[in-house]
Amino acid sequence: MAEIVVLGAGLNGLVTAMLLARDGHSVQVLERDEAAPGDADTVWDQWERPGVNQFRQLHFMLPRWRALMQRELPAVLEQVIAFGGARLNVFGELPPDLTGGRRDGDERFDTVTARRPVLEAAAAEVAQRTHGVSIRRGVTVRGLVTGRRLVAAAPHVTGVVIDSGAVLRADLVVDATGRRSPIGAMVESAGGRRPHEEREDSGFVYYARHFRSPDGSRPAALGTLLQHFDSLSVLTLPGDNGTWGVGFTTSARDKHLRGLRDTASWQAALKLYPTAAHWGEAEPITDVQVIAGIEDRYHRFVVDGEPVVTGLVAVGDAWACTNPSLGRGASIGLLHACALRDLLRDVSPDQPEKLVRRFDEITESTVASLYRMTLAFDRHRLNELAADVAGETYQTSDPSWAMTKALYAAAQQDPDVLRAYASVMSMLSTPQEALAAPGMVGKVLTLGANAPQYPSPGPGRAELLSTITTASS
Ligand SMILES: Cc1cc2nc3c(=O)[nH]c(=O)nc-3n(C[C@H](O)[C@H](O)[C@H](O)COP(=O)(O)OP(=O)(O)OC[C@H]3O[C@@H](n4cnc5c(N)ncnc54)[C@H](O)[C@@H]3O)c2cc1C
Repeated sequence: MAEIVVLGAGLNGLVTAMLLARDGHSVQVLERDEAAPGDADTVWDQWERPGVNQFRQLHFMLPRWRALMQRELPAVLEQVIAFGGARLNVFGELPPDLTGGRRDGDERFDTVTARRPVLEAAAAEVAQRTHGVSIRRGVTVRGLVTGRRLVAAAPHVTGVVIDSGAVLRADLVVDATGRRSPIGAMVESAGGRRPHEEREDSGFVYYARHFRSPDGSRPAALGTLLQHFDSLSVLTLPGDNGTWGVGFTTSARDKHLRGLRDTASWQAALKLYPTAAHWGEAEPITDVQVIAGIEDRYHRFVVDGEPVVTGLVAVGDAWACTNPSLGRGASIGLLHACALRDLLRDVSPDQPEKLVRRFDEITESTVASLYRMTLAFDRHRLNELAADVAGETYQTSDPSWAMTKALYAAAQQDPDVLRAYASVMSMLSTPQEALAAPGMVGKVLTLGANAPQYPSPGPGRAELLSTITTASS
């Protein structure tokens, strides 16, 4: 069994470490930030995590994540619950007139979720008692240590250098340093070519607040977790211990909506959305938290058919990340970590070239399509938001966007379509799989093709802008 060093103790670094240790590997996790300071409220209030920009931003764990965790690491789910996490059914939360009532199979929409710091504290708690995992915190990885090359053009990583100057040796280094991963520059400093990188600002901005109820209850869901309107989308996400998050997400270019930074404007705007307004009628536990400059980033470590490095792989956000409004980061990261664990059962780190090549292939066949789908959705949505600003209707020749819109609109009108939509949004099926059910495409087109662009009740742009301006003055 291998000595493995995982860089980063974020959500995906921790699950990767646990999965690998449970297979008998000896795993050391290196994390620059300090440990969780205590219970759910203490971690929310006090845990300093400069390494994760989005640490106190809206997070929700999809049913796919819950299902995978139930299979792979159920102790983490139990710990999330023990910390006050919410156990819920994203479908069952919706009104029966939308869902048609509970049906067999709806249990696939079960999930367990919490505010991000609480999720991570739970994962860290289980990781530190997992045999074979050791976590060193307050340690920043500064560079790679290399040995004799096994592929002429690729440095072979045999360890890392940390800030004290100490060298830690490993049979395999797993980069899980998140969306700002420095690994490309480190590979270059080690004498290799940079991994292939696609990188651009996703173009979205989030204006979010968290709330708490006095009695541990949460607001009734009158619409889906992510609802789209003229000029913005609204997220309503249950959390732990009677908390929840509400966020507006829109184009970062829409300067007229920047007034949503203002608390009074934010609150006034939320009141305009009948299916979300009541989520703002509680004790706020944050001001409006703004996050922009969120990059889409994607890497490959095999370039022009040749590995750029051996002895090193990347998982989770360090491999690829997108605008997060579909809430897929942890689910994709977990799938990716499982793929690495499975590969290491067949290919050991003492076959470094084969390992990097096979992991590249497996990454492309398991998770890259999810990254691409998310990117495609975001690009269309951003164009649609730009058209809203211009007072136009977004037109595209891409039939998949028309189908995406029709599915969303039809889901508000038909319980079968709503299940198909929920299964895509829960990452339980691809749109193709969901639409393959007998009669589904016909239903979606009949109900959705000529539906209003934004089927849920909400203000037009002019009303939204005037509300924001009036509230701030
Ligand atoms: C606004 C926003 C909302 C989101 N909402 C959701 C959601 O609802 N659902 C969802 O599933 N996902 C969501 N995501 C995505 C999710 O946050 C990420 O997918 C997830 O955090 C990735 O985990 P990770 O372990 O790969 O990286 P990270 O969580 O970023 O962890 C990386 C770790 O590496 C450490 N590190 C970095 N460099 C070094 C170094 N040199 N040495 C040592 N340690 C280092 C950092 O300190 C950090 O702890 C959201 C993202 C954003 C931006």
